[in-house]
Amino acid sequence: MNDNDDISKKLGTNTKLSRAGYDPFDYHGFINPPTVRASTVLFPNAKAMESHDQKYTYGTRGTPTTDALCEALNELEGAAGTLLVPSGLAAVTLAFLALLSPGDHALIVDSVYGNVRHFCDTMLARFGIEVEYYDPGIGAAIETLFKPNTKLVHLEAPGSNTFEMQDVPAITAAAHRISAVVTMDNAWATPLFFRPLDFGVDVSIQAATKYPTGNSDILMGTVSANAQYWPRLRHMNGALGICGAPDDAYQALRGLRTMGVRLERHQASALEIAEWLETRGDVARVLYPALASFPGHAVWKRDFKGASGVFSFVLNVARRDEYKARAQAFLDGLSLFGLGYSWGGFASLALHVDLADRRILTAPTEGPVLRLHIGLEDVGDLKADLERAFAAATAI
Ligand SMILES: *Cc1c(COP(=O)(O)O)cnc(C)c1O
Repeated sequence: MNDNDDISKKLGTNTKLSRAGYDPFDYHGFINPPTVRASTVLFPNAKAMESHDQKYTYGTRGTPTTDALCEALNELEGAAGTLLVPSGLAAVTLAFLALLSPGDHALIVDSVYGNVRHFCDTMLARFGIEVEYYDPGIGAAIETLFKPNTKLVHLEAPGSNTFEMQDVPAITAAAHRISAVVTMDNAWATPLFFRPLDFGVDVSIQAATKYPTGNSDILMGTVSANAQYWPRLRHMNGALGICGAPDDAYQALRGLRTMGVRLERHQASALEIAEWLETRGDVARVLYPALASFPGHAVWKRDFKGASGVFSFVLNVARRDEYKARAQAFLDGLSLFGLGYSWGGFASLALHVDLADRRILTAPTEGPVLRLHIGLEDVGDLKADLERAFAAATAI
């Protein structure tokens, strides 16, 4: 419900999640919005058709279903507007296409999601955009990398696979001094645990594929912008014709309603497992911002309201030439954790992290890095599964 009155401003997160984006009495009291599928929208007469003077004009420009999700996200992100696109990767690439031009210089965090790096190194390079990777821990010193043509700074915190934190307020303040736009991939925290726009970020990006939909059956990305950048993003979306589908938007809104309670469970289970891993001799390090031992913990504690269920650990393996075999034995020793990409769903997942594409950061030297997504299963069962995997990794 969009009653922007005093009551709705004071509501708690889960209450907001249960109401955001849609007023049931806009559609006969049905508590969920209708799924409106559309290409054609009819105009009542030629004059209305010429002026486009009505709320909906064509399916690519939104329907009541996609609007319900966008309005819910505007409320959660504190954004002026939100675009839906068909994947989290498309959310980042679309934002870059909207905000960069040939000859520009873009600063991209070195712990960026790998497919975004691929886009930068291929597509952006082909369009004559200069891409430079920076250390996630750089903070205010990002200004030492600025050039006269620096137009965009892209953040992702925690970073993909290795979970480095970033000093978001320090970086946004520096970037804004040279009028560069700041984009941030916030898939890990979701706006429930971190609201990028409150910390000076201009464009907040979500892989809604992950926690918002929560069931590993939908691909969707969202791009939420402040008032300054919303018109440019909206224009780019119209120019490219890349839009989210109403059925997927319906499922994402359905997922949002329960995202708060799911995240609480992901967080509690992940923390319990991460702390347990830290006590083990076969684990060299656990890479999870919620742990006091993690280098980015202080920044996480200062700026974030919670931690989600994805983190990595470094398996203790003495010999470099055994990293891969022991990592694979560990993965093959799992039976409850699935081996698969993505995260944010109900099922726990594991994979062997590949850090070969890093330019600035170096991979841990104590052993292979394994990433876990802690799902909604019972923690005791997950620990027992991991215990069997450690045994399998030792046994080879
Ligand atoms: C998964 C992920 C994406 C991409 O989302 P898709 O919907 O799978 O394309 C982008 N950024 C981060 C940080 C991710 O984890």
